[in-house]
Parts: sequence; C-alpha cells; structure tokens
Amino acid sequence: VKGKAKKAGKQAKAINQAAVLGAGIMGGGIAYQSASKGTPIVMKDIAQGALDLGLNEAAKLLTAQVERGRLTADKMAKVLNNITPALEYAPIKHADIVVEAVVENPKVKAMVLAEVESQLGDEAIIASNTSTISINHLAKSLKHPERFCGMHFFNPVHKMPLVEVIRGEHSSDETIASVVAYASKMGKTPIVVNDCPGFFVNRVLFPYFAGFSGLLADGADFAAIDKVMEMQFGWPMGPAYLLDVVGLDTGHHAQAVMAEGFPDRMGKNGKDAIDVMYEAQRLGQKNGKGFYQYS
Ligand code: NAD
Repeated sequence: VKGKAKKAGKQAKAINQAAVLGAGIMGGGIAYQSASKGTPIVMKDIAQGALDLGLNEAAKLLTAQVERGRLTADKMAKVLNNITPALEYAPIKHADIVVEAVVENPKVKAMVLAEVESQLGDEAIIASNTSTISINHLAKSLKHPERFCGMHFFNPVHKMPLVEVIRGEHSSDETIASVVAYASKMGKTPIVVNDCPGFFVNRVLFPYFAGFSGLLADGADFAAIDKVMEMQFGWPMGPAYLLDVVGLDTGHHAQAVMAEGFPDRMGKNGKDAIDVMYEAQRLGQKNGKGFYQYS
C-alpha cells in the first residue's frame, strides 16, 4: 500500500438494488448478508445447482437464528424474499451495484465483467471480490473503469467484519464512496486500500504464514504453535487451523501471487509447509484433511 489510500468522499450513490455474480461460498454469503441488512439482491450463477446451494446456505443461517429466538419466521421469509436467484442477466439490469464473485480465474473474470457491463445502466457500479487478481488488470476489460473497484469480503462473509475496498487507478471517488457506504449498510467495516498484490490483509497474513513455516522447518510442532497463538496469545485461531479453514490450495495460490509481487520480501528458497501440504493434496477442511484431520 504505497502512500496513504485516499479517503472516500461523501458523494455515495444510493444502493437500492444489488446483484452478485456467482452463488458459491462467497457469492452466497454476500447475497445472504445484503438481504439480511435490507438491500435486495439478485444472485446470478451459470448453474442451477449452485443457486440452490447458495439459497440453502442462506436458509440454514436464518433458520439457526429463528431457532435461537433472534429472528421471527416472518423476518426470515422477508430476507429470503430479498434474494432473487437468476440464471440470466435480465433481472440485474436495474442493479445499482454488481459484485462479481465468480471463480478466481482472470480470463473468466474478464469475460464476465465485460458481459455484465454491457447489460447495466450508465450509473451502475461493478466491484470484484477477487482475492489476488490486480484490480487495474481487471479494469482493462471494462469500458468504464471509473465505475469499478475491488470489494474483498472474507470467509465466512456473515462472520468476518472487514471488507477491503480496493481503489484501482481509474476508480472514481464516487465509486469508492458508494462501495464503502454499501459495505457499511451490510454491517461490515470497510477499509480503502490501493491496488497491490495481497491488498492489505494478505500482506500481513502471508509474512505471518512464512514465519510459521520457518518454525516448522526448524522442528516445531504445528499443534503446539496453534495452542500458543490461541490459548496464550489470544487469537481466535492459530496459523495451521487458519490455513485449514482458508484452504491450502487457496493459500498456495495467494502465496505465489505475493512471491511474484514482492520477490525481495516474499520470495522463497525451496519448498515451505504450504507447498508440501498442497502437493500432498491436504487442502484443509474442504477435503477433510489438512494440518488436522476432519473426517
Ligand atoms: P466458488 O467456486 O465457491 O464459487 C464460484 C461460483 O461462480 C460457482 O458457483 C460457479 O458456478 C460460478 N460461476 C462461474 N462462472 C460464472 C459465470 N460466468 N457467471 C456466473 N457465475 C459463474 O468460489 P468462491 O470461493 O466463492 O470464490 C469466488 C471469488 O471470491 C473468487 O474470486 C475468490 O478468489 C474470492 N474469494 C474467496 C474467498 C474464500 O475463502 N473462498 C475469500 C475471499 C474472496
């Protein structure tokens, strides 16, 4: 983050209707969060199965709240009614903001961004939930990069307070202010950061993982490190468990992006723990085995 990220101005546009592209882990979570906080959202995917999963996930989270007495059945129905599943672009034509949360593949994202821009009105904002792809690079696929920026949520969306709003070189102040306002309306804490590999969080997190890998290479026990970080240091989870939650494949990919972006600081000599785990396909909770065993 070079210099100080400019503060968001005050000229936020009203976001009355949102859309999210992709109904996966993140898209489903974004739809749930937006709908829960009162902004109707269209959730578009290319697969009916993904839409069903996204809606089921939202219904599960809401049912748990009803069971705990935190939500009435009537409010639950209203929230679910705020999510419109779609396989076509037609229902998103009038969206004030579209959050792109499709697979982390630059080519797919470029195609989807250009496609969605051609469907929207002249005022609509597009934001990408990419974890690692440069916002300036993605902006090249758009005719109006001034109405584009990053909006990086964390997993699980309903629990994690932070949202990184990433300012590309062409993002307008109005775009940034609007996305900041939408994130706040969703009950999140937005921070505005400049576009760079790892944005903010991964620039803090990956040096920490490198320190963890170094300790393992020196013979430390991963469970003992987790125990110290959790019980004595007071963090909600230690590095091994966190990597299992994030996914070792995702971690491996993000680490490569960091190493390429900051070869002097994040470059590696040989394999580290993340490489070894990834190569052994111990991907963490998603496939039942990572540092810990889940099935
Ligand atoms: P996922 O694989 O769970 O979901 C991706 C969804 O996109 C799938 O349902 C797929 O059918 C859909 N899709 C693919 N092509 C599409 C298209 N052309 N139009 C509409 N939908 C399409 O992925 P995810 O984990 O939800 O990640 C989505 C994005 O969020 C990625 O950019 C990822 O880097 C980012 N992200 C992920 C996490 C995480 O922990 N999983 C955290 C932060 C950000």
